Amino acid sequence: GFSFEGKRIWVPGHRGMAGSAIVRRLEQEGCEILTAGRETVDLRRQAEVEEWMASAKPDVVFLAAATVGGIHANDTRPAEFLYDNLAIETNIIHGAWRTGVGKLVFLGSSCIYPRMAEQPMREEALLTGALEPTNQWYAIAKIAGIKMCQAYRRQYGCDFVSAMPTNLFGYGDNFDLQQGHVAAALLVKIHRAKATGAETVELWGTGTPMREFLFVEDLADGLVFLAKNYSGEPHVNLGSGKEITIRGLAELLAEVIGYQGDFHFDTSKPDGTPRKVMDVSRMTAMGWTASTSLREGFERTYRWYLDNLDRGN
Ligand code: GDP
Repeated sequence: GFSFEGKRIWVPGHRGMAGSAIVRRLEQEGCEILTAGRETVDLRRQAEVEEWMASAKPDVVFLAAATVGGIHANDTRPAEFLYDNLAIETNIIHGAWRTGVGKLVFLGSSCIYPRMAEQPMREEALLTGALEPTNQWYAIAKIAGIKMCQAYRRQYGCDFVSAMPTNLFGYGDNFDLQQGHVAAALLVKIHRAKATGAETVELWGTGTPMREFLFVEDLADGLVFLAKNYSGEPHVNLGSGKEITIRGLAELLAEVIGYQGDFHFDTSKPDGTPRKVMDVSRMTAMGWTASTSLREGFERTYRWYLDNLDRGN
């Protein structure tokens, strides 16, 4: 295995949900953690990225920086999702080759797989069918990132690997109702309904789509494990392997929050992919599985939300 002891590790995206969890996890590794905020480096600008990398000289990069969002954000901001993510990836991956980074872990997404991929989705399902239209822009950018890691490995011998996380939730998520992902949005909606005594909560779509969720602290642990134990061209799925319907998720969150009302489904809003659960057997075979149950993860996230973001609304 690969050791982080004494290494200089850069986490682009360290203020985001995934990046901040990676930083917390790396604090146990005896390494030097490098960060550069938006005010220092605009990751979409190649010259800024190359200059920063040449002076910071990271040994390892966890590429967690990305423009991300839930189904509505993806569906309504296609240019930003495609351009920002392509620019960030190409700048950092190319810069990592130029500055001799020894290990790079690129974070993708489970939305890279075809909309109608066989479930659970195996890594081999990549590029075997048409994408889900609502998040195709983000998916195309993430597929390009996987292919860049493969290309730089083939042509230049770079040890760049890709991990495909499933739907994430946890501390520091985007709790904005329009821009955020379903887990954070439902947590806020149900919390507010409880606080105001509302009898129903309005959710999007039919409630029947199935999603797999991974607690972001488990994601960070899985990424560190992968960086230490994996070196290869194929990308690796990173999930819990456990799925739940959107209605089931709402019911679980209602239990965690202590809300007794009902749910109403606004079917004029999109459902997205009908089912999205990953085959996580590659990670399991290497010796890693997610350790936090969905309920425990949501209890911890809700406590974090109350302590950090709840302003009594
Ligand atoms: P996806 O997994 O890429 O589709 O993105 P999301 O994390 O945004 O999850 C979208 C799924 O949750 C769709 O089936 C939506 O119809 C459903 N959903 C229900 N209510 C909400 C909500 O308030 N916000 C979001 N983002 N999704 C919702």
